[in-house]
Amino acid sequence: MQQSDSENSRAKQLMLTRHLGERGIQDSHVLRAMATVPREAFISAIHFGHAYVDAPLPIDEGQTISQPYIVAKMAELAEVKNDAKVLEIGAGSGYGAAILGQIAAQVISIERKPGLAARARKVIEKLGYNNITIIEGDGTKGLQQAAPFDAIIVTAASPAIPESLKHQLVLGGSLVIPVGDETYQHLLKIQRTDVNRYKRTEHGAVRFVPLIGEYGW
Ligand code: SAM
Repeated sequence: MQQSDSENSRAKQLMLTRHLGERGIQDSHVLRAMATVPREAFISAIHFGHAYVDAPLPIDEGQTISQPYIVAKMAELAEVKNDAKVLEIGAGSGYGAAILGQIAAQVISIERKPGLAARARKVIEKLGYNNITIIEGDGTKGLQQAAPFDAIIVTAASPAIPESLKHQLVLGGSLVIPVGDETYQHLLKIQRTDVNRYKRTEHGAVRFVPLIGEYGW
């Protein structure tokens, strides 16, 4: 199904009110970012008509662009401020990084698959988002040379919370990460409350593709 720009803009409005607003997303910065970034730019033409359906969609190399509600939920949980430096693990299509880039001062997103990293970089460049850097690598190790981060968002499922990522948070910063097995995970928020203290809260069941790397699967 091919959908026109005006149909996509109606679908986007529905996403904002029904899938995000009515399901409890309240952060005005997150909602504005979700209203601004064109999700259709991050998917292949064959899925264009489903750009604002509240579901993950396939991207290249067997990976997915996350469901809009989950992208918004993770950004809201991370409490990203406009002067924040954010690390995303799992750039995929680049959409999540683009959303974070509308809210934060600086976003670095790591992607383990070079082909996806290159494509995401190209889309982000084309849209003119110049506070986002996409790099290739194993994000389970974080990015020590650019740490500490105000927020770290992991968009792939981890078997455990990587210690490496916790240690790269500023005091008061948050790590948002799906943790569980390969079919079902809990969305966790780990907030660094002191040098060696972390507060953990749970935010529902989710399903992500696996986080593959030294401190993942
Ligand atoms: N944030 C993405 C978006 O908006 O399209 C969704 C990403 S997808 C659900 C998860 C991504 O994590 C995949 O592209 C996968 O290749 C990547 N990934 C898995 N393990 C990784 C790792 N150790 N480091 C970096 N990226 C990883």
